[in-house]
This record gives sequence, C-alpha cells and structure tokens, in this order.
Amino acid sequence: MKIIKFLKVKKMIKQIDNSIKVKYGKILECEPENAVVYIGFNNTELENRTFRDYVNELQPNCIFNDLLLGILHEIGHIYTLDEDDETEYLKDTELLNQLYRNDLISDEQRQYFYLRLPLESKATKWGLDFTKENEKFCKQWNKIIF
Ligand SMILES: [Zn+2]
Repeated sequence: MKIIKFLKVKKMIKQIDNSIKVKYGKILECEPENAVVYIGFNNTELENRTFRDYVNELQPNCIFNDLLLGILHEIGHIYTLDEDDETEYLKDTELLNQLYRNDLISDEQRQYFYLRLPLESKATKWGLDFTKENEKFCKQWNKIIF
C-alpha cells in the first residue's frame, strides 16, 4: 500500500522539520527553494544502485536503507540550498545529458557523475551526517519505512 508508506514517510519528515511541505509524487524529488519534498517510489533500479554505491563510498557499512537515505538526501537539498551552486549544476547536468545522448557515456556513468556534482553531493552528505547526529531516531524509522 503506497499511500500508507507515503503517510509514514510524511510523518517522519514532519518530525524532522514541520515546515517542510510533503507531497505525493512519482519519484523522490524536491523543490528546495519552496521547501517541498515529493515522495514517490518509482526511482529506477539504476538510480537506487548508483546512489547506494556512492553512500558506501562516503560511509562504508551504513546500516540505513535506501528509502530513508533518499528522503534525508531530499531534505538535505533544502538545508544545503546555495544559489551559487545552481549555475554550475545546470551547466553540468546539461553537459552530462548531452554526452549521454551522443553515446559518449552510459546511463550509469551519467548517474555516477551526477551524484558527485557539488549540489547533489552536499545533500547526500547532509543526510549521512543527520544519521550520525540522530542515530536513535533514524534506527527507529529505518524499521518503519523501507
Ligand atoms: Zn538530489
């Protein structure tokens, strides 16, 4: 039941920061400037796997599940919002998409570099720091949402 999962995720986010607006979407996404997080469960297997690989690189043996870390990543976008990163982000994502369209990099490589762009990397690192600073809270929610 996706709606129940959504409501559980919403409850968790509200406990972290009640001012964040939580909406139902297709995939995990966010609009940092409006403090909106979209919760959806249709991220691709490739997206999930490459995200996990990056998490393992930053913090080997992380015990938290992909959904929990993905949600914290989206919240991280709100907390690490910096307009200075955006121009570079738009330029870099356009370049990655262009390379991919021209068959110069694979989808997996595109994803690999995408996750390491400063704007994306900051959000993931924020999430991992949050798990360290709020271990008990995260362990509890890790059992509820997955
Ligand atoms: Zn992101």
